Amino acid sequence: MVEPPLGITPTSELHAMGYTRYSIADGTLERVRRGWYAGSAADADAKAAVHIGGVLTAASATRHYSLWTPDDNRLHVLVARNASRLRSPGAQGPKGRETCLHWAVGTLTARAIASPLQVVKDAAHCLPLEHAVAIADSALNTRLLRLADLRPVVPAVARWCDPASQSGTESLSRVRLRRKNLRVRTQVEIEGVGFVDLLVGDRLVIECDSASFHDGYQSVRDYDRDMALIRQGYIVLRLKYRHVMFEWEKVEGLILAIVRARRHLWRGGGSAGTVVSLWSTWNRSDRARGSVRARHAPRHATSRHGTSIQDMTPGVDTVWTSDDLT
Ligand SMILES: [Zn+2]
Repeated sequence: MVEPPLGITPTSELHAMGYTRYSIADGTLERVRRGWYAGSAADADAKAAVHIGGVLTAASATRHYSLWTPDDNRLHVLVARNASRLRSPGAQGPKGRETCLHWAVGTLTARAIASPLQVVKDAAHCLPLEHAVAIADSALNTRLLRLADLRPVVPAVARWCDPASQSGTESLSRVRLRRKNLRVRTQVEIEGVGFVDLLVGDRLVIECDSASFHDGYQSVRDYDRDMALIRQGYIVLRLKYRHVMFEWEKVEGLILAIVRARRHLWRGGGSAGTVVSLWSTWNRSDRARGSVRARHAPRHATSRHGTSIQDMTPGVDTVWTSDDLT
């Protein structure tokens, strides 16, 4: 017998998968609602979505397509437009969990999950724009969707998309900075270094660590890349998942300070390179006082050619200049 997608399937597919009516009688399958059956290993969210009359979509569906998935505890369910009994408030989802309903234009899929295009469309309705773009970028990057698919359905998302994006954090950073009207290029190749995630102006390089569990530079290669960039005069800002997801205000303040000082331009900032590392946490007492001091500011924290990053922006706990690394 074939395991149905997400462990749950409509009756119409059961026979083709090798199940019989005895599979229900002998407990191999569980009836979730009329016309839908689940195996013992069925996905809990998919079961809940089918139980209330729909299928998974938006942030509840993305991980099943290996797309970027935001932290979102809601159960997102696509239901048929005629599912009027679900229009009542508090729609019958799992206890203690908010259910976000989306209304299908046509008939629902015969799977327990919406199509990738529908998933992006629904994400655009109930998630921040940059989250929908990050989901769409990951679908484009893995070639699950094409820009030509997105443009007619979700033009407001498609216009911000970039299939070259390598991670959700890169997509979020790019969209937020471009919405501030900053000139941001993606996946720029720099001689002797390779491709960098984002380049703001001429020389502010932003590298985005995609995984939430890394607590430092990912590899010796990252350090080597940073040094190679610094030797050429670039400013390198390496962001971790939590900087992008939970501390963006602080990060954006830093970037805008660099831009205001015109240090992101060759003509504005001289040639000394700088690494700005945000991955040491500022401690709670600093946060409580509303100010952040450098944990261990190096003696050469001030660039040869301009103002120290720390002078411009509170919240940076470590600054190295090329003086420290050469
Ligand atoms: Zn939703």
